[in-house]
Amino acid sequence: MVPGARLVILGRQGAGKGTQCMRLARHYVVPHVSTGDIFRASVKAGSEFGLRAEEYMLAGKLVPDEIVVGVVRERLCQRDARARGFVLDGFPRTAAQAEALDEMLGDEGMPLDLTIDLEIDEEDALRRLADRRVCSTCATIYSTARPPAIDWTCDNCGGEVVQRQDDTEDAIRKRLADYNELTTPLIDWYEKRDSLVRIDAIGSPDDVLRRLVSAIDSRKLR
Ligand SMILES: [Zn+2]
Repeated sequence: MVPGARLVILGRQGAGKGTQCMRLARHYVVPHVSTGDIFRASVKAGSEFGLRAEEYMLAGKLVPDEIVVGVVRERLCQRDARARGFVLDGFPRTAAQAEALDEMLGDEGMPLDLTIDLEIDEEDALRRLADRRVCSTCATIYSTARPPAIDWTCDNCGGEVVQRQDDTEDAIRKRLADYNELTTPLIDWYEKRDSLVRIDAIGSPDDVLRRLVSAIDSRKLR
């Protein structure tokens, strides 16, 4: 059996981060820990940090880092992640969160193997996002290059496949600029600690996965 891995995956919109996180989770047989999902789950389950997060969200306030890290900790300390590792997707978002995550993982005796920045330049990202089409019923993603088989009708559910309203060029440029501003210090933080590898996100999903696995496996052998 393939050994597990503890990974943080970063990447701007359009890099295919969600897809590669799912594939990596399958490859290393570890949970794909998407912070959006675990937030919703911990609020619903009424966990200690979930309840505290909910108070801020109901008040329309930003959830403090300490509570976000608490929610992540609750998830990463469950048996599957403890035993084999995790692919962390959507967290950390800032250098301060990276620092808090690092401390927490150190306390728990499960340090990261590697942080990966899935790299795509802004023009390529813009093109991919502008070409993106999505099923209005089940959210399956298509593109103008890979449309559904029949006339913008979803292959899965027969729903209408459309361009999302917020996928206009201006809106995409704004999201990409916001991401850069927020993430550059985070990437620098990991780079200074020699725990960042940049992987080219251009190519077929299989090619990108091969690059990822090869970078991760060679790091783990170091
Ligand atoms: Zn559909």
